[in-house]
Amino acid sequence: ALDVAWAVDWARESARTVVEHRDELVELDRQIGDGDHGENLKRGFTAVVGKLDALGEPPATVGDVLKLVATTLMSTVGGAAGPLYGTAYLRAAKATGVAALDAAGVVALVEAALDGVVARGKATTGEKTMVDAWSPAAEAAAAAAAEGDDPVAVLTAAARAAAAGAQSTVPLVATKGRASYLGERSAGHLDPGARSTQLLLEAAVVAAG
Ligand code: ADP
Ligand code: MG
Ligand code: MG
Repeated sequence: ALDVAWAVDWARESARTVVEHRDELVELDRQIGDGDHGENLKRGFTAVVGKLDALGEPPATVGDVLKLVATTLMSTVGGAAGPLYGTAYLRAAKATGVAALDAAGVVALVEAALDGVVARGKATTGEKTMVDAWSPAAEAAAAAAAEGDDPVAVLTAAARAAAAGAQSTVPLVATKGRASYLGERSAGHLDPGARSTQLLLEAAVVAAG
């Protein structure tokens, strides 16, 4: 079930995958940015695990876990990704104040996260940002929830769409964020934030398994 224990596992699995892919994310960001994305996220999610380890009582709702992630990322990640992911998790937290998510709850989580990224960064799809992973993820989640009521199937559909969305950033020219300074030279590279969004949604599926 996508309950509080799952949300905690998701946060821990996020830290594990971000540490595992730290060098890849740094290299992607070195190509079209300033080379800190992997380190930024490693710092943030390591701090999240520290906060989880220090908790006395388990949180009451999925949203309480996501709020802990949000506030920790906001205070530790910095750069563009800190406020973007912080706002995404904060909006997602507000949409998930329940003990466990059903299929509609997964849709609400992913849509709220997308709304948070867009509210904060003002990017639309096609600008070579993490929106290119979050947006198809939200669409796929809604489509999957219309087909069936298994929340894990909805989450899996979202993660698959995020993976495809991340790959779709390769040929794009960046028009938002640091990569936009490169203009046409940003084409031919995977966007680091879209890649990390894929990793985080895949971590949510792993935590559900
Ligand atoms: P910084 O660029 O400040 O060093 P990071 O390297 O941690 O921050 O994060 C870069 C990622 O942030 C990009 O790969 C992109 O996905 C995302 N990003 C940057 N600006 C925006 C924006 N306006 N909207 C959405 N995502 C953005
Ligand atoms: Mg960077
Ligand atoms: Mg930076």
